[in-house]
Amino acid sequence: MLKTPDTTLLRTVAEERAALNVIGGKMVGAKSGARIEVACPSDGRVFASIPRGETADIDAAVASARHAFEVGPWSRMTATERGRVLTRLSGLVEQHADELAALESRDTGKPARQGVADVTAAIRYYEYYGAAADKAHGSQIPFLEGYTAITTREPHGVVAGIIPWNYPLQILARVAGAALAMGNTLVVKPAEDASLTTVRIAELALEAGCPPGVFNVVTGYGAEAGAALSGHPGVDYVTFTGSPGTGTAIQQAAAGNNRGVTMELGGKSPQIVFADADLDAALPVVVNAIIQNGGQTCSAGSRVLVEKPIHEEFTAELARRFEALVAEPHDRDGDLGPLINTRQAERVAAMIAEAEAAGFPVLAKGSVADDAPQGGHYQAPVLFGAVDPLSALGQEEVFGPVLAAFSFEGEEEAVRLANGTEYGLVAGVWTRDGGRQHRVAKRIRAGQVYVNAYGAGGGIELPFGGFGRSGHGREKGFEALMDMSATKTTVFNHG
Ligand code: NAP
Ligand code: MG
Repeated sequence: MLKTPDTTLLRTVAEERAALNVIGGKMVGAKSGARIEVACPSDGRVFASIPRGETADIDAAVASARHAFEVGPWSRMTATERGRVLTRLSGLVEQHADELAALESRDTGKPARQGVADVTAAIRYYEYYGAAADKAHGSQIPFLEGYTAITTREPHGVVAGIIPWNYPLQILARVAGAALAMGNTLVVKPAEDASLTTVRIAELALEAGCPPGVFNVVTGYGAEAGAALSGHPGVDYVTFTGSPGTGTAIQQAAAGNNRGVTMELGGKSPQIVFADADLDAALPVVVNAIIQNGGQTCSAGSRVLVEKPIHEEFTAELARRFEALVAEPHDRDGDLGPLINTRQAERVAAMIAEAEAAGFPVLAKGSVADDAPQGGHYQAPVLFGAVDPLSALGQEEVFGPVLAAFSFEGEEEAVRLANGTEYGLVAGVWTRDGGRQHRVAKRIRAGQVYVNAYGAGGGIELPFGGFGRSGHGREKGFEALMDMSATKTTVFNHG
């Protein structure tokens, strides 16, 4: 049963404002009146609620997006004007940065500084796509005598964006920035665990001059609002970030209408550390890549492959650092915050227990702050050594602060291990040998490869996406504009 949220716990205007859907430029509740409680992962306490949107709400949002696409004025605005709306949105996000960062941090449990980093990235996304809107153009193709053939980039129409709970501000910004820049209209379904900033951004988009119906948000459960949206015949294209299983369900739903999709489905990303690497440079980056956001990052560096001669030394130093890590409530801005919800905490704990039962040595465990609130979903970081590459821990996304270490001998084995999962999202290669940097980077099957660096989530300019089970299509950077549009060829016979 839904308890009435304790509104005295609402600390800011933003928290109050975020408790509605945005449909056709209006802030509205669910048609049924039903609501979902919103709890803070740091203490489990309910502090807000969101509408429990269902098919009827999705129908209204899709109709509104379709009307805005077909009737205008969005579809008749120049690309430059659309870009200016996004640029103004970037400015408004910057103006409200503190409020948005605090809201994101409270809603997801991420440390305060990560909330700030996420807003900073969102500002950049809207700035980047605002400036890019009038630079994605087609071409002219040499064709028959007496003909002129040109290509133009056309918006798909109504784009459905299904957003996960780990980085709502950032993932929304990369979806909305690219989709709106190309002239699409949007219906977004955020994750029910972290919807608040998405609603707030859609409201700011109205203030930035986004015409009503261009940017709609319906909150609710995946199985209800999410399923209704991904299979809706009024949707022209679906973009999704989340788990491979849900990705399959969404693709099947979209396939019912033969719609295109972009799928970003996570990874089991390796960091390969060769014996000649600058270990002092690698160590903090390897730790951060699995600790950032409590490991709940699609591009988390969740496997570390260490070359034999330095294996003992490197993993001993990693262990020392892991032991010092402490999980704390988001507002204390510790090394990591809690996990998002009970289900995720249980899932991560079960994968740790399974790895322990399989006999993989625990090289180090961090801790949870003694005074962390009881109702929070805390998980101490764990470093496992000698992990069997074919085990669940070697193959499956944990989505928690759990790092699996492996040893290897030479480039050949490094590449084989790195490519030895069904995923292929990101990889890190640490070596001072220039030839090896190129050889290994070339052979890794991943959407992004970093050499002597690792960019968990970073780089809004950099195309991002997966091979294999990590999904398909590309987001971020200029390339996202191609996913968010289709080529039209027009041929003139002028004699
Ligand atoms: P999920 O099921 O993939 O959820 C992601 C989004 O899809 C949410 O908005 C969710 O809504 C929605 N959704 C769920 N079922 C749907 C359906 N049938 N049709 C349409 N939309 C649907 O992720 P999760 O269950 O929260 O997390 C489980 C695991 O997924 C994690 O442990 C992690 O391994 C992975 N994950 C990966 C990423 C990533 O960035 N790659 C992000 C999140 C999770 P509701 O949440 O409101 O139900
Ligand atoms: Mg929440």
